Amino acid sequence: MYPGDAEFGFELLVCRWAEEAWPPAGGRGDEDAVLVARQLGTKRRRWDTVVVECDPAGLAARACFGDRELDSDLLHVVLHAPEEWAWYRDALPHPGYPWRYVRAAVHRAAGRGVVEKRRRGNRIEIRRVAPYPDWVRRIVAIENKPDLDASAARALSDQLSRDVEDALADEVWVATHATGNRVEPALLEDVPVEVGILAFSFDADASGDDWADASVEWHPSDVTPPDAESDEERRTTRLELAERAYGSGWRSYHDTMRPDCRHFELRRFGRALVPHCAAKGRPQTAAECAGSCPEFEPEPPVWRTRGWPIEGGPGKGIQRLLGDRRARVRAREAGEDGEE
Ligand code: SF4
Repeated sequence: MYPGDAEFGFELLVCRWAEEAWPPAGGRGDEDAVLVARQLGTKRRRWDTVVVECDPAGLAARACFGDRELDSDLLHVVLHAPEEWAWYRDALPHPGYPWRYVRAAVHRAAGRGVVEKRRRGNRIEIRRVAPYPDWVRRIVAIENKPDLDASAARALSDQLSRDVEDALADEVWVATHATGNRVEPALLEDVPVEVGILAFSFDADASGDDWADASVEWHPSDVTPPDAESDEERRTTRLELAERAYGSGWRSYHDTMRPDCRHFELRRFGRALVPHCAAKGRPQTAAECAGSCPEFEPEPPVWRTRGWPIEGGPGKGIQRLLGDRRARVRAREAGEDGEE
């Protein structure tokens, strides 16, 4: 059972489970940290769930650069900013596009406080605020397919084969809803042998860790290419992906859905908080919870009177709650905080 019997609800539960219990074999120790994100990828491919396995000390050091993602332009500046003041054109490698765009990125980076900047004559000099840490260990991609029957597996097969070939992630999984049956041989035939299969059963009312049960139906193979360390393009793309996971986290659904609608609620499901629509009387999907929803109604202004306009109404409260939870998990994984 999962909220609304929709892929979206299943995805949120898988993300929550991963945040608490990754890896599937168990044994996450103090030396391990994970960040979980959803709907993340490259221009060519977007995964439902991405687990970034991190070095906790590196993750703590990453916090020096703020909570927000560093996009590719900012990363270019931050990664190469020197320890001592230097003209940015001397310090940074030629980006392959005009310097004026780099100069704009330098100003943006300084505005965000992720590098220092000063003017010497007509030259702009930069200095790093801290070395950018090596915080990403592995990236794991998970495709969520709660109703994975043989035909769904066939439909996914090409996409998963490409994931294995591209090897942008180190490991690829399909997460499905446990049926209580053995995985069909036909299904295994259609899923590439390198891809792991994880079967979930959820119980909304179970206490503690019993709310989610994940069993490995098929173990994945590590698809990291042998020349991964020297592949600069792969390293850069993965770092950009990890940065996006750092900035957004899986709770980013509160940025795209409509918590400012009077019918938007959060409900507890096991150890997860999932959206619920009071007007529809069921969990809504991310796609339907938009300004175009025929039942959308803004929060009545009177809801906002307490604390308004500084704190806003319940919608703002939900956004704050989910945003705070994301920040707390990040701090916990970096060993800076206790429980979420
Ligand atoms: S009525 Fe529509 S916009 Fe409002 S919470 Fe429900 S799905 Fe979202």
